[in-house]
Amino acid sequence: MENASKSIVEIRQLTKSYRRGGQTVPVLTNISFDIMPGDFIALMGPSGSGKSTLLNLIAGIDKPDSGSLKVNGIDIAALSEAELADWRAANVGFIFQFYNLMPVLTAFENVELPLLLTTLSRSQRQERVELALSMVGLTDRMAHYPSELSGGQQQRVAIARAFITDPLILVADEPTGDLDRVSADDILRMLARLNSEMGKTIIMVTHDPHAAKSAHSIRHLEKGELDVTSER
Ligand code: ADP
Ligand code: MG
Repeated sequence: MENASKSIVEIRQLTKSYRRGGQTVPVLTNISFDIMPGDFIALMGPSGSGKSTLLNLIAGIDKPDSGSLKVNGIDIAALSEAELADWRAANVGFIFQFYNLMPVLTAFENVELPLLLTTLSRSQRQERVELALSMVGLTDRMAHYPSELSGGQQQRVAIARAFITDPLILVADEPTGDLDRVSADDILRMLARLNSEMGKTIIMVTHDPHAAKSAHSIRHLEKGELDVTSER
């Protein structure tokens, strides 16, 4: 049953450093790990430990210095910038700490945005967007602008936007970091449902142990290195 245990993300000997004022600052050193399809992983660690850097590498936002990074069998570290942009649009859904919605677009239009790059017709897009917004409980807020929504509601729009294209992986960087406990729990429940009901593979960066409990497993980053154990 070789295929049954095939990783969706396969990271080998990944290193990444940043250049700052003529100096090279290592951020990730020799990271190796696997994520299985349908996993829900929480990536924890102190501020500055490289969590966002690692997430951005997995999501194809940034490129490693060395090592290999395969997502669904494709070595994304080897893609050109243009190929990487196409790959991201088709395969990755992002959820950010501060929602990153377009302020001049309504909730509906924000969620529709990624679909404008597809061949779907206007009415197909409308059907998909309405379904996604109903799944996050925002049917009655579709025509609202981000400034007219609470933080928790904005993050729900961002979640709908992240899964509207049915991406291969969902990545979330501190998705509850700016929310009160009740809104945060709403968001965590939605992520858990996307994982359990739609089978979405989720990689979530958080420094909140309570949020991390929603995941199946927790990995700790410390000074650019990953822990050995992975159970919660
Ligand atoms: P975390 O998300 O765990 O707080 P980051 O991945 O954001 O950590 O950052 C890890 C380290 O890399 C930090 O020391 C940070 O200052 C540095 N760093 C991150 N991004 C850049 C960048 N674009 N240029 C220079 N240094 C960076
Ligand atoms: Mg970070």
